[in-house]
Amino acid sequence: MNILFIGPPGSGKGTQSKRLNDEYGLTHLSTGDMFRKAISEQTEVGMKAKAFMDRGEYVPDSVVIEMIKNRLAEADCASGFILDGFPRTEPQAKALQDLLITLGMKLDGVFFFDVKKEVLVQRLSSRRTCRNCNRVVSDDQLNTDFGLLTCPQKTGGACDFYQRDDDKAEVVMKRIDVYQNQTMPLIQFYEGKGNFLRIDGSLAPDEVFKLIENSCKKS
Ligand code: ADP
Repeated sequence: MNILFIGPPGSGKGTQSKRLNDEYGLTHLSTGDMFRKAISEQTEVGMKAKAFMDRGEYVPDSVVIEMIKNRLAEADCASGFILDGFPRTEPQAKALQDLLITLGMKLDGVFFFDVKKEVLVQRLSSRRTCRNCNRVVSDDQLNTDFGLLTCPQKTGGACDFYQRDDDKAEVVMKRIDVYQNQTMPLIQFYEGKGNFLRIDGSLAPDEVFKLIENSCKKS
């Protein structure tokens, strides 16, 4: 099963992707995670992406498309994937269409995570991310048992939570604006196709997961 998640930053795409990965083994393709990894490894792609990400802007289409093209051709995508954060622009959506045809793949479900701006701002500015496994928690959870979650990427170690630079208040508003201008038009591109579903992303994570699961079972 191949799934596409579209939604603003902070709408829960990453959380649901991780869950689908845990429970169904679908490969989680997050372009944001890929860029952060590239930056930490100081690769050429990472160098190209960093300044754009720090400003809350999108990385140029050519860079993103090339990266995802290589990734989708890897073996672990053949048994099912979740695209989280790609496509975000019309040229990316068109490139994805062509790429899927070339690879003989199709999308089984397109889910739009709809969440109000006020909720996004609140979620993003209190969000903390593990440097190793990319798990997210809110800052008030850090003072509970969540703060000591065992990290799947670090044998025997706890998650190492930090605030992403682009989750700082001044960048958050910019990211939401960029999303509204450049990614919202994609909803029209996918809406009306049979496999599209709008989900209320302000519901609790378990509820959102059930909606996705039920929809996938039907298709
Ligand atoms: P979020 O969904 O919370 O905004 P991500 O981790 O998905 O966070 O993305 C972080 C940043 O990575 C984006 O603000 C953007 O700069 C860059 N990025 C990720 N995916 C894309 C994409 N498809 N096109 C352009 N830039 C991207």
